[in-house]
Amino acid sequence: MPFNEKQSFLTLREKLEVLLRSSDHPLTVEELSQLLALPPSESKLLYEHLRHLAKSIWQKSKGREALVMVPPTCRSCGYIFKELDKPRRPSKCPKCRSQRITPPAFKIART
Ligand SMILES: [Zn+2]
Repeated sequence: MPFNEKQSFLTLREKLEVLLRSSDHPLTVEELSQLLALPPSESKLLYEHLRHLAKSIWQKSKGREALVMVPPTCRSCGYIFKELDKPRRPSKCPKCRSQRITPPAFKIART
């Protein structure tokens, strides 16, 4: 676990925030759930947590920080899901119908 003794008492959402702020590269939900050692049932909820986190980061920092999403891309045709308004993983490419989609990645950055 990448947390010290004090941080291990943080809630899941607070831990997410620590990871997304300290990572040197954007993290996917898969990476986050590994870092947090989450069981698969919990890692499904991470997108939900990220949606809440996006709002609370923005509000808490009064717009100075934001949850930044590197958009998913289609591995077959290169389509980029630029229009995604919320953290989620699309199941299908709208252009070529492929299901080989790279997941979105996240970090907290100054605006
Ligand atoms: Zn495609």
